[in-house]
Amino acid sequence: MTTRRRFLMMVPASGAVLAAACSKQEEPAAAAPAPAPAPAEPPAAAAPSPAAPPTAPMAAGPMVEATDPTAVALGYVAVAANADKAKYPNFVDGSNCANCALYQGAAGSEAGPCPLFAGKQVAAAGWCSSWVKKTT
Ligand code: SF4
Repeated sequence: MTTRRRFLMMVPASGAVLAAACSKQEEPAAAAPAPAPAPAEPPAAAAPSPAAPPTAPMAAGPMVEATDPTAVALGYVAVAANADKAKYPNFVDGSNCANCALYQGAAGSEAGPCPLFAGKQVAAAGWCSSWVKKTT
């Protein structure tokens, strides 16, 4: 009978051990993924360089060739005096790229960009049939 008594005394103790073991196994094998870290704040917008103009000037490029399809279509010539005045009766004496409203070269420059010839430069002394008198 002592063995039965000892057994009965051991059951509650072993039950507690089993309960503890089972409670550990009931923990999720893989913990829920940690919440994603908060997105980093976007970097503060860089202040514009005081040296940079608000709009970038057209990049300088190669000179427009006489064979350029746009040049041919517009009757562009590198020297205004060579313009085909019979074909372009709108030619105005003294007109050239330098005094055209579309010319974007600096004052006194020998060549500069023109929006009709993107990525290229026209001669300040040039001319085309799209010439428009510069007003300023
Ligand atoms: Fe020259 Fe004006 Fe013709 Fe451009 S639009 S090629 S600047 S005349």
